[in-house]
Amino acid sequence: MTKQTLAFQAEVAQLLNLVTHSLYSNKEIFLREFVSNASDACDKLRFEAINDSGLYEDAPELEVRVSFDKDAKTLTITDNGIGMSAQEAIDHLGTIAKSGTKDFVAKLSGDQKADSQLIGQFGVGFYSGFIVADKITVESRRAGMKSTEGVRWISSGAGDFDVETIDRPARGTSVTLHLRDDSMDYASAWKVKGIIAKYSDHISLPILMEKEEWKDGELINAGEENGGRQPGGMVKTGEWEAANKGNAIWARAKKDITSDEYNEFYKQISHDFEAPLAHTHNRVEGSTEYTQLLYIPGKAPMDLYNREKSAGIKLYVKRVFIMDDAEALLPTYLRFVKGVVDSADLPLNVSRELLQESRDVKAIREGCTKRVLGMLEDLAKHDKLPEVAKPAEGEAEVVTDVVSEEDKAEAQANVGKYSKFYAEFGAVLKEGLGEDYGNKERLAKLLRFASSTTDTTSVSFADYKARMKEGQEAIYYITADSASAAKNSPQLEVFKKKGIEVLLMTDRVDEWALNYLQDFDGTPLQSVAKGAVDLGNLLDETEKKAAEEAAETFKPLLAKLKEALKDKAQDVRVTTRLVDSAACLVVQDDGMSTQLARMLKQAGQAAPDVKPVLEVNAEHPLVKKLEGSVHFNDLAHILFDQALLAEGGLPADPAAYVKRVNALLV
Ligand code: ADP
Repeated sequence: MTKQTLAFQAEVAQLLNLVTHSLYSNKEIFLREFVSNASDACDKLRFEAINDSGLYEDAPELEVRVSFDKDAKTLTITDNGIGMSAQEAIDHLGTIAKSGTKDFVAKLSGDQKADSQLIGQFGVGFYSGFIVADKITVESRRAGMKSTEGVRWISSGAGDFDVETIDRPARGTSVTLHLRDDSMDYASAWKVKGIIAKYSDHISLPILMEKEEWKDGELINAGEENGGRQPGGMVKTGEWEAANKGNAIWARAKKDITSDEYNEFYKQISHDFEAPLAHTHNRVEGSTEYTQLLYIPGKAPMDLYNREKSAGIKLYVKRVFIMDDAEALLPTYLRFVKGVVDSADLPLNVSRELLQESRDVKAIREGCTKRVLGMLEDLAKHDKLPEVAKPAEGEAEVVTDVVSEEDKAEAQANVGKYSKFYAEFGAVLKEGLGEDYGNKERLAKLLRFASSTTDTTSVSFADYKARMKEGQEAIYYITADSASAAKNSPQLEVFKKKGIEVLLMTDRVDEWALNYLQDFDGTPLQSVAKGAVDLGNLLDETEKKAAEEAAETFKPLLAKLKEALKDKAQDVRVTTRLVDSAACLVVQDDGMSTQLARMLKQAGQAAPDVKPVLEVNAEHPLVKKLEGSVHFNDLAHILFDQALLAEGGLPADPAAYVKRVNALLV
């Protein structure tokens, strides 16, 4: 292939622009990205070579070399990994293949500040090179291809790039950054070594740099950068040494790892700029042996609700990288967790398919799930500071443990973390009720809701139970499209009147998830929009009596209503649940709620036509007026349609509804 100039995909051009402008304050990460690409390329070679050892050619020792040339103003990262063919260079360096990144670019607002926050959630990858370079040259040859099939790719990061075929005996890739004048400090061993130590220490391959020594030992005071020796006095020795320690953080002892190191590693694997909320690091021995280092991020990625989205766990086998996004290692509802699992038992050539079936993997998955839930329980426990103990009645004093200042500070640091977690990931956690039967009880304890008496999403089932009224036998909840729809729903009226708390469920997944949870700790969960309300002992005798009487006197009217609405309502009955409203809709106990049916239909899925029950308030003037009204039929339909509107639905025939109301208004 002779030299040709190709345009970047439109999204790349956009991304490039953003990367170079918004990451300016954090320039150095480009090196992490390039070293990580080089190390990935070596991992890929090792992986492919399991089945084809010929790919090693005559260089079985995989390595990354970083070198610079002050005069030429270049920094070069070379690896002897898998390399790229010409087509791969075009595809991988000229287009954005990953859908996540594409979605990201689509979300860009043009507002630099907002956009640069977004970018933290995505790998900026190769393009970050243009923060420090005004030109990047990539030369590569794919392992197993002929030396005449090398490729050279050059771009200045504007709209296009050049590619051509070259002769390249060396396998792998060499990326040369032509440094901008204001980035010349990266052509320094001291600087580069520092960055490698910071970001890439865990990489098990040697990251080599050429050793330098002083040309003459003359000492002058020239700052810490060159140890006070004379400037410009370093010369290369031709000898290479590793700039990284090469010890994977997860393989080290907990007590030797600082929280900064844990956080730094998290940022590296997650591409998140923020520190995680929590981590857990354990070595597990038993039927299967593995190390886990798992993190709970503080922020949800854009594609969190995509259940197809890859999980965030990297799988290693005896410190050899096997694969990213090993979804078999955690259930889907924990897809927000990031981290590493390093197994001592799995074969190196394990495939995704094999992972699904492996018994070792099953054990790892269970172990990781347990740990993550444990981490969440811990965060939940420390979400609020313990209340200051007061002496119990009849006691003069309280005795508590002495708490050290450090413990106090730690407790303080953990306050609000679970709330933060829950706001980001709570809805995803709920999927677990249906997905992970074995951990249902633990999950239920982790759930938090808003309620008719609390504004924040902070009420747990246990809190609710502790506040239940005497005689209350169920945990009441309502599902709705929004908090305000839930709060103002007619179905809540009697509960408000009686001061009974109702949990407000407004996540899309609630209805589905609650199908899997019939009770909490022995107390049944009861939707206030399903079945006849049975307030049981919460109604007093006069109320019960009035309800029975109303049902009796209204019998003929109900029969008429039922006839008028036979296409819309399954039944019509008198209810005690309403106070101010004239009517509301409920579904049979075992029926799908109208809200869920509506949601399914909106999502284009099949949903049964739910015929709800119309419940009327015998005390309401409109209902009282029905009897004998010449507009009976219109009023009946209006009553039904308004009940539907009140719960956020739409009349089947909105125009007919408007006509009827207007006719009456006139
Ligand atoms: P990411 O590494 O997150 O996939 P990058 O933008 O860093 O994204 O790189 C894009 C792609 O270019 C990589 O996925 C890989 O296929 C290819 N690539 C980059 N650097 C190298 C390299 N040193 N060797 C082989 N392939 C590489």
